Amino acid sequence: MLKTGAQYIESIKAMKPNIYKWGKLIEDVTTHPATASHIKCVANCYDAAFDPELAPIFTNVSALSGQVAHRWNTLMANAADVAGNAHMKRASYYINGSCTGTICAGWTVLNAHFGPSARCDAKYGTNYHQNLIDFMKEAEDNAYGLAGCLTDAKGNRALNAAKQPDKNAYLHFDKVDGGIKLNGYKIQICGVAGCNYIVVMPTTGFGPDAKEFAVVAACPRDAEGVTIVETRRPSDTRVEEEGWDGIKSGTTQAFIIFEDVFVPDNHVFLAGENEFAAQVLGNFTNIYRAAIGSCVGGQGDLIAGAAIALARANGLTQKAFQDKLTNIVVLNNVTIGLGIGAIMEGHDDGGAWIPDTALAHSNKIQVATLPYEAKRLAVEIGGGIIETGCIPSYKDMTSPIYGEKLMASMDAGSGAEDRIKLARLLEWLHIGGGVPGCLHGGGSPDTARMLVKGATPWEKYVNLAKKIVNIPEDHLVEAKK
Ligand SMILES: Cc1cc2nc3c(=O)[nH]c(=O)nc-3n(C[C@H](O)[C@H](O)[C@H](O)COP(=O)(O)OP(=O)(O)OC[C@H]3O[C@@H](n4cnc5c(N)ncnc54)[C@H](O)[C@@H]3O)c2cc1C
Repeated sequence: MLKTGAQYIESIKAMKPNIYKWGKLIEDVTTHPATASHIKCVANCYDAAFDPELAPIFTNVSALSGQVAHRWNTLMANAADVAGNAHMKRASYYINGSCTGTICAGWTVLNAHFGPSARCDAKYGTNYHQNLIDFMKEAEDNAYGLAGCLTDAKGNRALNAAKQPDKNAYLHFDKVDGGIKLNGYKIQICGVAGCNYIVVMPTTGFGPDAKEFAVVAACPRDAEGVTIVETRRPSDTRVEEEGWDGIKSGTTQAFIIFEDVFVPDNHVFLAGENEFAAQVLGNFTNIYRAAIGSCVGGQGDLIAGAAIALARANGLTQKAFQDKLTNIVVLNNVTIGLGIGAIMEGHDDGGAWIPDTALAHSNKIQVATLPYEAKRLAVEIGGGIIETGCIPSYKDMTSPIYGEKLMASMDAGSGAEDRIKLARLLEWLHIGGGVPGCLHGGGSPDTARMLVKGATPWEKYVNLAKKIVNIPEDHLVEAKK
């Protein structure tokens, strides 16, 4: 089923209020200034299904139903489908100027668990795979927006889940009549305010001592016992103000408190079979870290465009900065291309397509590094007005007492307003909502390095080198410790 943006907004409006910010309950997330711009951005993605140019990017034919559906409600069954995820992420930056979490992580969880849930059923006689398929069809039929919750609070990082003094540091379940109950904290989750359902999965692998933390399940965002608190972000008060200082983007993060949240059996996709936690996590990170290259690439395209426009508003031309602009695009292309390469080199996992591990995680490392250089180059092009604190507020710029003079001081030939708006956009992309998501979003680079290390056949490479120069294979061998 396809929903328009307006129909999607109605579905969110109809939900029970359980989201807080600034110490207060948000009665209607679709109109509250802290969340309305996120909802509007998600709505743009729904509307994209009805735009002839955008529809091929934002929709796909569902492999489960054969019907056209919002792309984020479909199974990624082959490389083209996962590449479609990457292209959609880039395009959603174009229409929203930011990450749009509601159409991202929850969808990825469902896909990542497609293979592991079937293997778990084969081993234990559970019914998780069918539950998952049924829920994916439900999500498609109702055009759900989905948040994906991996990140637990985690407590003391030196201790594993089973050893934490506060068990809530990791989300855990208890079996009850007809389902499970969830307790614990999931934090830093994007797109929660705009989702219809929350999908939870483990943030790490678990041993047999930690079975109660191995849970994959879905519950409505407004389920009894779910409390959501929006995070503070750079420039969030600006977004709530009138004027051009705040970029009305789709960025939103939340902490989620689960207190005895009942999930019926049919929405449970893993509960206790700990050896499958690492499998779903591995698949999740492979999909996510391949596609995220296009997400930050979309942001990079916007950075390049805004930098050129600001150079023009400064009275200069693109030519003056061409080397720097070309470098920005090269940096973008590295993460976009490496991600697409990871997708093309992927494999089928029981009907879902999983990108190549070494390439996907190499991409995560690039994503955590290269965009910072692109942002630095944009600041260099745009000038000091991008660096924080260098333009008076909208209220001052429009003050009846001195506003006219301030605006005159900002005019570099083509009027002050365009120049200020572009400077605010680049300021935001540089140190506001634009930076987060590059480094830890989708997991820390250190874990990616571990996976690249694990997926690389080091000894094979040593032997190749030895063979070229006729060194016997049994020379230069490290003793196993
Ligand atoms: C913009 C943004 C969006 C996000 N959206 C989502 C989302 O939608 N869903 C979701 O589930 N999560 C989301 N996250 C959370 C993200 O996945 C986590 O931030 C990430 O996995 C890192 O976890 P952490 O922040 O708890 O870092 P920490 O665990 O505190 O790690 C900090 C550093 O310590 C290292 N470290 C941690 N433990 C150890 C150890 N035992 N030994 C050695 N080194 C260690 C890590 O590698 C890292 O470098 C988002 C994050 C961001 C920034």
